Amino acid sequence: MLLRKEHFDIPDGVIYLDGNSLGPLPKGVIKRVGDVVTREWGCELIRAWNTADWISLPLRVGDRIGRLIGAPEGSIATGDTLSIKVYQALAAALKMSPGRRVILSDNGNFPTDLYMAQGLIGTIDKGYELHTLAPEDLVEAITEDVAVVMLTQVDYRSGRMHDMNAITKAAHAAGAVMIWDLAHSAGAVAVNMTGSNAEFAVGCTYKYLNGGPGAPAFIYVRPDLIENVEPALAGWMGHDTPFAMEVGYRPAMSTERLRVGTPPIVQLSMLDAALDVWEGVDMTSLRAVSIDLSELFITEVERRCPQMVLASPRDPQLRGSQVSFAFENGYAAMQALIDRGVIGDFRAPDIMRFGFTPLYLDRGDVVTAAETIAEVIGNELWADPRYQTRFRVT
Ligand SMILES: *Cc1c(COP(=O)(O)O)cnc(C)c1O
Repeated sequence: MLLRKEHFDIPDGVIYLDGNSLGPLPKGVIKRVGDVVTREWGCELIRAWNTADWISLPLRVGDRIGRLIGAPEGSIATGDTLSIKVYQALAAALKMSPGRRVILSDNGNFPTDLYMAQGLIGTIDKGYELHTLAPEDLVEAITEDVAVVMLTQVDYRSGRMHDMNAITKAAHAAGAVMIWDLAHSAGAVAVNMTGSNAEFAVGCTYKYLNGGPGAPAFIYVRPDLIENVEPALAGWMGHDTPFAMEVGYRPAMSTERLRVGTPPIVQLSMLDAALDVWEGVDMTSLRAVSIDLSELFITEVERRCPQMVLASPRDPQLRGSQVSFAFENGYAAMQALIDRGVIGDFRAPDIMRFGFTPLYLDRGDVVTAAETIAEVIGNELWADPRYQTRFRVT
């Protein structure tokens, strides 16, 4: 059984369809935070780096994420934010493609991925260019001048999913390095990093992995490459012997070279506890349930609300674990829904997003959510003036 509702602390009366943006609180996290703060930090003080093995926590957590994305032990470093991990992967990938000057991405990629590329291009100042194309035009554009193909597997707005293996193959055929952003994939769809043969992957852990707001990100490097990956952010925690306090930087001979500074121990511990919920979860089975829930949702919403237009691919194989509908008054409608306990979110200009997470959602929840949506849309409850003011975070 995949359904593990009892492991989560979700408020009564809430149907949470936003686990793709911020996963809910796993109950085990509450106890773990208390323990880390009072016993490990409070009593052990500095000794906890050894006695509680804080120093290896980033690697241990990385290995647990690895199991969910088909990556071998030791191939994942955790820490920092996803934006930083994008920067690290991209900087390293560019070094691996000397002479080539194009970074290729799609125009639906998450803004920070594109912004980090733009910033890096400015810093290097050697004539690199970022090209962004429509997703369907990508493969043809992977030519011999492309240094790196950098894509997010599942589009944050529409849920459209790239074919990871096919695109990686096309990148390699043209001699380009492949970076996958798994922000909306890890814990959502079955990913096999080893099978894909891609050089790099990055992702965050506060979405489907339920690590909590600001939870550390991760970066995967294909194991055969790690000793030649040049860390752009040469922090002391990525040094081969951090406590030798050498003047010169010498990177660790493992994925640890992609660590930067002191790890966020409380957040990492929260993530570690959140990953307990994933013990024994088979991603292929989880994906099957996620498709079942998403298909049911589309059917139930379309049947009741002709005003809402499906903005995700209709073929579930081309979709991640979210369903988006375009609706002109989407922002106000989402506020009205949230007021009634159905929590999704909104992305400009008119996208209402709903995430499907089989660990704590079942078919009954999906039908109830669709009924609430029908009530809000059918009766124009969104028109209430109190739903019109936009908050800073939508
Ligand atoms: C959520 C998300 C991010 C967020 O980056 P942070 O540095 O964690 O704020 C970046 N990229 C993608 C594709 C995302 O979905």
